[in-house]
Amino acid sequence: MAIAKKEAGTPQSVAVVGAGPVGALAALYMAQLGWRVSLYEARSDIRKEQVYHGRSINLALSTRGILALRGTKLNLDEEVLREAIPMRGRMIHDQHGRQSSQAYGVHGEASRWTYINSVDRGKLNCRLLDAAEKHPNIKLKFGHKVVHCQPDLGALVVETGTDDARETFTISHDFIIGADGAFSTIRRALMRCTRMDYQQAYIPHCYRELTIQARVDAEGNRSFAMDPYHLHIWPKMSYMMIALPNTDQSFTCTLFMPQEKFDAIRSQQQLVEFFQQEFPDAYELIGRESLCEEYFRNPLGSLISIKCKPYHYQDKMVIIGDAAHSMVPFYGQGMNAGMEDVMILQEMLLRYQNSLSDALDAYTALRHDDAVAICDLAMYNYVEMRAHVHSPVYRARKAIEGVLYRLMPSYVVPLYTMVSFTTIRYSEATRRSQRQGRWIYIASGVALAVTLGLAFAATTISLSHHHRRHRQQAPTSAA
Ligand SMILES: Cc1cc2nc3c(=O)[nH]c(=O)nc-3n(C[C@H](O)[C@H](O)[C@H](O)COP(=O)(O)OP(=O)(O)OC[C@H]3O[C@@H](n4cnc5c(N)ncnc54)[C@H](O)[C@@H]3O)c2cc1C
Repeated sequence: MAIAKKEAGTPQSVAVVGAGPVGALAALYMAQLGWRVSLYEARSDIRKEQVYHGRSINLALSTRGILALRGTKLNLDEEVLREAIPMRGRMIHDQHGRQSSQAYGVHGEASRWTYINSVDRGKLNCRLLDAAEKHPNIKLKFGHKVVHCQPDLGALVVETGTDDARETFTISHDFIIGADGAFSTIRRALMRCTRMDYQQAYIPHCYRELTIQARVDAEGNRSFAMDPYHLHIWPKMSYMMIALPNTDQSFTCTLFMPQEKFDAIRSQQQLVEFFQQEFPDAYELIGRESLCEEYFRNPLGSLISIKCKPYHYQDKMVIIGDAAHSMVPFYGQGMNAGMEDVMILQEMLLRYQNSLSDALDAYTALRHDDAVAICDLAMYNYVEMRAHVHSPVYRARKAIEGVLYRLMPSYVVPLYTMVSFTTIRYSEATRRSQRQGRWIYIASGVALAVTLGLAFAATTISLSHHHRRHRQQAPTSAA
């Protein structure tokens, strides 16, 4: 396969910093393009850890992520999906524990491209690392934290060892890919050598994870305590809880609330009263003991949104994944978008085979609008998930959108479908959705006019029947 080189000749060396899902995937793609890859990861090898100490335990994998896994041609998509649980829609829980399902696929079809998949984040990462380890072009370097980077020299300052015996060394590579997450060291270095526009915002909401354990019957058989084929949502207007299924038949719940609301719950009694009042069905399923233990033990996570530009410096380095665009998790796209970055980067490297610098220019130019679009959509979706999903207006709009999609699929495609089940560029999906709004507006007007017309006709007919009957029954005064 072709390789974008600084100059023709021997394969170049690339450092990928961060062996999260995006970095591990990038290492594979680069190795397959013929680069010699060193994959630096600050943490120890997660495959040897008992418990995964990362961010959320499970996450939703959708079309963009699946296709990026497939792009390795190593069957990784099949392997990962074999261990995934398909979520075909949202299950909305109301105050009284009543549930209503809202399908993701508007045609009611059940295919991989119309549902999202709950995957174990740790297992997915392990699969990618296993594949990377097998590739002869990749060297995995766990416990190697990049503490500094000198882009002009392609140099990384790397720290290894434990607190007792730390060592630091400097190493050079032809090219550096920063996939080191939201608090990226590589992005910080990029800021110093480019005129980077940078924007970050913490939202007032934080998150904490809780567990609904599997049901176990007298014979020891395990089963899910709720429908496993849905993403469960408890919308509460200004906050919410969601739950995703796990393959061990448990659910991981994530409670999203403003930090002050978390801080205000200080005692077990307050916590129990809050859950009994706001999430009565979830309270029964989690159980008092487990709730109190997990709530006061599990860390409170912050949610940050980061946008920046450019993503690269000359032909020296580029940032991808959360390092380039961190988003709030409400569209379930952070990792999917990061994996798509890897595919787009590969596409640019192949398109501009003779100039890495041109390839990276093109990458930033193409990807930035999309990253901004999905960061904004993710922010918007939080309002939709916690405040709109219950509303009759929202449901009516969704229903009309679904009907229009059936009738004229080339004109109207629901935004969620474009984002989660296609590879339409995020920025294009946003624009199309705004344009489609017009059709939905017109269709809503027509539907309203028809409904009013029918209601008016029905009333008129019934009144005229009533008058006729009345006239027939009335005594005549004529002699
Ligand atoms: C609550 C929550 C739910 C989410 N749900 C979803 C979802 O459903 N679907 C979805 O697509 N996304 C979801 N996301 C987003 C997703 O987690 C991220 O987008 C994804 O993890 C980004 O992957 P990454 O590899 O770019 O970064 P990370 O996963 O953050 O990995 C970065 C890696 O770099 C390493 N590293 C950091 N600094 C250094 C350094 N200096 N030197 C060496 N190594 C370093 C870290 O140890 C880490 O292993 C969710 C996020 C949260 C918080």
